Amino acid sequence: MPSDDRNKKVLGIKIDVDTYQGMKNGVPRLLTILENHDIKGSFFLSIGPDTSGRAVFQFVKNPRFLKKMVRTNAVGLYGLRTALYGTLLPSPMIALSFPDIVRQMMSQGHEVQLHAWDHRRWQDELYRRSREWIRDWFEKGIRGFAELTGQKPSAFGAPAWVIDDRVMEILGDYRFNYLSCTRAKKPFIHEKTGVVEIPSDLPCFEEVGVPEGISAVASILKDGGMHVLPVHAEVEGGIWSSHFIALLEQVKRSGYRFTTLSEIRNMLPVDKLKVRKYRMELLPGRSAPCAV
Ligand SMILES: [Zn+2]
Repeated sequence: MPSDDRNKKVLGIKIDVDTYQGMKNGVPRLLTILENHDIKGSFFLSIGPDTSGRAVFQFVKNPRFLKKMVRTNAVGLYGLRTALYGTLLPSPMIALSFPDIVRQMMSQGHEVQLHAWDHRRWQDELYRRSREWIRDWFEKGIRGFAELTGQKPSAFGAPAWVIDDRVMEILGDYRFNYLSCTRAKKPFIHEKTGVVEIPSDLPCFEEVGVPEGISAVASILKDGGMHVLPVHAEVEGGIWSSHFIALLEQVKRSGYRFTTLSEIRNMLPVDKLKVRKYRMELLPGRSAPCAV
């Protein structure tokens, strides 16, 4: 994602909170890590029910999913309770269960934005759901977000980087300041809606593994530019937090400045960005296609 000024080294940390356990345990740990390193991050919250357990239905439908779960030790990463939410155990609310943690994010100066109402159902069921379902999903997510923060979100990051044309059309009505819905290599403008896309261009630990993830990210960063690292509260704030700290320290030593995505949005030369439509593509280490 080279910027106008090649000398610039800027890294945005986009932290997706996908589950109840991630919100409860991963986020507090990440808040401490970020504070210790004097870094402001951008948290994208799942607001509503944790239906993670419903992922079990993906085993049957998508063999790549099972392979990914085994390769990344998903039960180790996410915990057994998470694997049962929405099936054998009822679905707890994610961000709505932890208003104090949301307040802490804001008081420490982090950016807080909308990631999901129901993350799991979006990534598994979006394509077969109706327009009304999508609109209702946004309405609930935005209402819950406003309850927690006192304001509407100014950005949206789609769960699992999954979107379709109906989503883009509905997003146009919400007038977000920017979107972070893709894994494109550089920012662009979404056609029709004209909204700026700030993609997560770097690979995440979940896709590459550790310690390989550290060298994979470092080798992309060595040329400088503006980049966004996708982080998951459950993973980098969980059993791989020490690798995350090692990555932050290495990146800092190489001269990078950390910032929020909304600050990146303000730095972008918007009139020079390409206007185009997203595409769906199966990226290495992922079980389903992502928007790029
Ligand atoms: Zn997510």
